[in-house]
Amino acid sequence: MVVIKFGGSSVGTIEKIKQIAQQIAKRKLKDKEIVIVVSAMGKSTNALIELAKQTSADPSVRELDMLMATGEQVSSSLLAIALNDIGVKAISLTGFQAGIRTEGIHTKNKIVDISDHKLRGFIEEGNVVVVAGFQGINSSGDITTLGRGGSDTTAVAIAAKLNCRCEIYTDVEGIYTTNPAVYKDAKKLSEISYMEMAELAHLGAKVMEPRSVEIGQKYSIEILVASAHSKNSGTLIKGANTMLEAKVITGISVIDNVEVVTINNYPNSSKSVSELFSRLANNEVNIDMINQSVINKDLINLSFTCDATELKTVKKIIDELIKLYPGFVANTNLKASKISVVGLGMRSQSGVAAKIFKLFALNDISFQLVTTSEISISYAIPSNLVTKAVAVIAKEFKL
Ligand code: ADP
Ligand code: ASP
Ligand code: MG
Repeated sequence: MVVIKFGGSSVGTIEKIKQIAQQIAKRKLKDKEIVIVVSAMGKSTNALIELAKQTSADPSVRELDMLMATGEQVSSSLLAIALNDIGVKAISLTGFQAGIRTEGIHTKNKIVDISDHKLRGFIEEGNVVVVAGFQGINSSGDITTLGRGGSDTTAVAIAAKLNCRCEIYTDVEGIYTTNPAVYKDAKKLSEISYMEMAELAHLGAKVMEPRSVEIGQKYSIEILVASAHSKNSGTLIKGANTMLEAKVITGISVIDNVEVVTINNYPNSSKSVSELFSRLANNEVNIDMINQSVINKDLINLSFTCDATELKTVKKIIDELIKLYPGFVANTNLKASKISVVGLGMRSQSGVAAKIFKLFALNDISFQLVTTSEISISYAIPSNLVTKAVAVIAKEFKL
């Protein structure tokens, strides 16, 4: 048994859907039990969101889920039609029909479990089962979606439930040391650990949805990432203990559209700091990196990062706070990107941060904030320096 996922670009046109149907027909001669998971055609999820925006400035998230889930219903049914057309027994299922039960807030649901009896029944009858990715049903019976890129999660979760292999086909030949669309000399990795892949994904490498990797790790499902249109070998995501040696740095990820907010001469008290961050939290502004330095016993400087789309809300909160604590100076509109280096080897080897600080100094790359985790270091840098920063780090660490 195998679960095979095709991303949006692989099912972008009817021509491509027909090609994939042929590929699946051949595969069926080898693997008797096949579950396919598909994303929506091309960029159609974005097009659906755009339609909602044209209809209302503030569409409800429940209705957005109803709308977005139609994308995968189109591609899954078309693929089943294409398979039937060439004589392959196939049936498409929505997330609900496939038993994908979810919970959480609309547009960001998580899979709780999969009631797989129906799915198994169709497989046993000899069908190729084509499941609409990215969607499920919550306990109220409402259609939900799993967050952008969520078809990866659907695929790995089904593989975990059926305890079988998972193959993800996309528009690149595997996982690269960094986004090959940004740095053309990036190298394809033959394998990568779950931990590193999850970290790279959380830190911006959208080639895999982060939660899908975490599910793979939890249930020890090896995930092959490869190109839908090439015979070249892809990348295997697997446990670190089965790999030869941990590299100090395995890859680089980038998140664009980061806003750096700096606040100088802010009152030095836990109450005033808590006031700021509570207001941000109450307005659902997701804060990422934070830095605080004490000027004297009365004043501090603070900086933090958030998504650039939150800037309007942040400015509103700052205006409210200035009334409460007059005298501090806030700087916004500092467009930045977050560049992160990731590697399991960092756990045991020191000096990576020092090396990168030196590289940045030599190459005139300024940074505003730095954060670290056990296996990564992230820097907020001006967006116009990202390409240069990726290139100098990649060269230094031979990525
Ligand atoms: P799909 O529609 O198949 O899910 P995505 O667009 O979600 O595809 O993900 C594939 C894209 O991820 C690639 O086109 C590539 O630009 C980008 N990407 C970012 N980081 C990496 C990386 N480290 N390795 C490979 N691809 C990456
Ligand atoms: N179609 C959804 C999206 O664009 C899910 C996916 O592609 O995995 O986010
Ligand atoms: Mg994707």
